[in-house]
Amino acid sequence: MKAALFYGPEDLRMETIDVPMPGPGEILVKIKTALTCGTDFKAYRQGHPVLLGENYPVAFGHECAGIVEQVGSGVTKFKPGMRVIAANSAPCGSCFYCKKNRPNLCEKLEFLNGAFAEYIKVPASIVKANTYEIPEDISFRHASIAEPFSCAVHAYHRMEIKPEDTVVILGCGIMGLLFSAVAVHYGAHIVAIGRNEEKLNIAKKMGVQTIVNSKDSTDPIQTVLDLTQGRGADFVIEAVGQIQAWDQAFKMTRKGGTVCFFGGCKKGSTFSLDTHRIHYEEVNIQGVFHHTPVYFQKALQYIRDGVLNPDLLITNEIRLDQVVDVFKNEAFSSPFKTAVVP
Ligand SMILES: [Zn+2]
Ligand SMILES: [Zn+2]
Repeated sequence: MKAALFYGPEDLRMETIDVPMPGPGEILVKIKTALTCGTDFKAYRQGHPVLLGENYPVAFGHECAGIVEQVGSGVTKFKPGMRVIAANSAPCGSCFYCKKNRPNLCEKLEFLNGAFAEYIKVPASIVKANTYEIPEDISFRHASIAEPFSCAVHAYHRMEIKPEDTVVILGCGIMGLLFSAVAVHYGAHIVAIGRNEEKLNIAKKMGVQTIVNSKDSTDPIQTVLDLTQGRGADFVIEAVGQIQAWDQAFKMTRKGGTVCFFGGCKKGSTFSLDTHRIHYEEVNIQGVFHHTPVYFQKALQYIRDGVLNPDLLITNEIRLDQVVDVFKNEAFSSPFKTAVVP
């Protein structure tokens, strides 16, 4: 089969490898649609020890949906011919964090890669805890956005946002837009701040009420204060993943409000916080990482219910053998999502 293999930063190659055989508890899925993801682009640029490990070459891509081709021994939940989506990780269910009901912090979270290929073998842990049959009324293309969407759904539900709240989304990229879709659905007042005109337009199409192009607003903190009678926002979602944005997000949160650090920065990054704001002003700080099986299922349900229109974000479709070129051409811009059809 054809498969994209990652040999190191900026070195992705399309090669022909053996179709894997599913072992006990595993399934082999014939991929119908895969999607490019911002994380893939980040990994392409600089590697990604958490997602890809450090033993190259390694299979690449992590958002895909397809049809079960073969099942390993002991698999009863899935049969050949079923339309399925597998998440890119699954919690073990038995470690300290899983028992504390913090499955996204699982000590044995193993990541699945290999979406940019004709087939993918899903490991037993993911087959068992985080693989789902796709409802008939969801296309492969729409189902494959469940992974990044589940991260946004997770972040949204970790906070108690009320309809009267003002929610600032700082960073209107794909993740910011996915978050917007859920937030709009629940009816808060959303302020999306970003610098990509096209993506800001999508936010508007989704129903975001206030759009701020940060190119026009030299001081986003002041902009938010102006929009909130000088108080700051009830909730601020940092969806950039850079220290400067973390700093701004914290500063534009009102007293007693919550800042959600949703965008991961480079390992070892630090920034300073004004302790006065945390103690005397009770600003809440919330980190949110990844997804869990519960939110993955919720994301699929939201896609089915039309909470998100994936076609607003998936703007391009290519064949598998064009994947390497897409990464070469788009890795240093801020692209929308591309559907890869083998
Ligand atoms: Zn992703
Ligand atoms: Zn665990």
